[in-house]
Amino acid sequence: MVHFKDPFEKMERENERRQHMRKALIAGNWKMNKVLTEAIEYALALKERVSEVPEVEVLICAPFPFLNPLSKVFENSPIKVGAQDLYWEPKGAYTGSVSAQMLESVGCSYVIVGHSERRHVFGDTSEDVNKKTKSALGAYLTPIVCVGEKLEERESGHTDNVLRNQMTQSLADLTKEEMLKCVMAYEPVWAIGTGRTATPHQANETQLFIRNLLKEMFDKDLAEQTRILYGGSVKPDNVYDLMSEPNLDGVLVGGASLSVESFEKLVKYSEAGEEESSDTVANQDGE
Ligand code: PEP
Repeated sequence: MVHFKDPFEKMERENERRQHMRKALIAGNWKMNKVLTEAIEYALALKERVSEVPEVEVLICAPFPFLNPLSKVFENSPIKVGAQDLYWEPKGAYTGSVSAQMLESVGCSYVIVGHSERRHVFGDTSEDVNKKTKSALGAYLTPIVCVGEKLEERESGHTDNVLRNQMTQSLADLTKEEMLKCVMAYEPVWAIGTGRTATPHQANETQLFIRNLLKEMFDKDLAEQTRILYGGSVKPDNVYDLMSEPNLDGVLVGGASLSVESFEKLVKYSEAGEEESSDTVANQDGE
């Protein structure tokens, strides 16, 4: 593991993030897991455990049937509720679909769009992601727009091209004001649910590329303000090192968000860092 030798180095990076108003977002993506009783039990425990972590924003992206009950449990708490997908039409004969307006009406404030499982299992294209992003913005939801390359694309040196295409198509025709309301998530497909995490350096390098693309597509000010999350086998034992990178403004977590104990550790990642730092200082002092 790469730990900062100097605890002040970590602090400087946190300060830089804050200066650009990029409050860290720790988001759990439950995918298609849990039944209602389990969802409520988890939510009650989470509310108890993370009620006072003001430096991070906490979000649970749950399956549709749990959104309204979770919103009620999290009422008067800082924890937010998000959906994992939506359909872009506001209403009509679209059997099985859920609109942005419906999500907003049950207390959602975020929605994931373009998750790799939607892209690769259900065939969502970047044009679909663009329509979903716009309809989310129209209903005052914050879209978390996911992009990421497959293993063969990374290995053949095509990561930059893949990300450029996904971003230009998924964010097409958004105004700067609209884009300022979005969150980006870099999720390398090869790291999702595989136990294989991008190294902090790899994630940071790619997220810097994403930030530079935002600068090219919009401007410097927007690029500095946009939060870019990392997702792909994030766990309590790697979150601190990932979050110590300057271009990571949060994490989108699947597997490790399913247990409340593990998600609490992710939310409180900086406590793990403080322990590491004091251990390092103690070791440097020869204790
Ligand atoms: C995800 O669901 O977005 C994800 C990154 O999954 P995992 O953390 O399990 O790799």
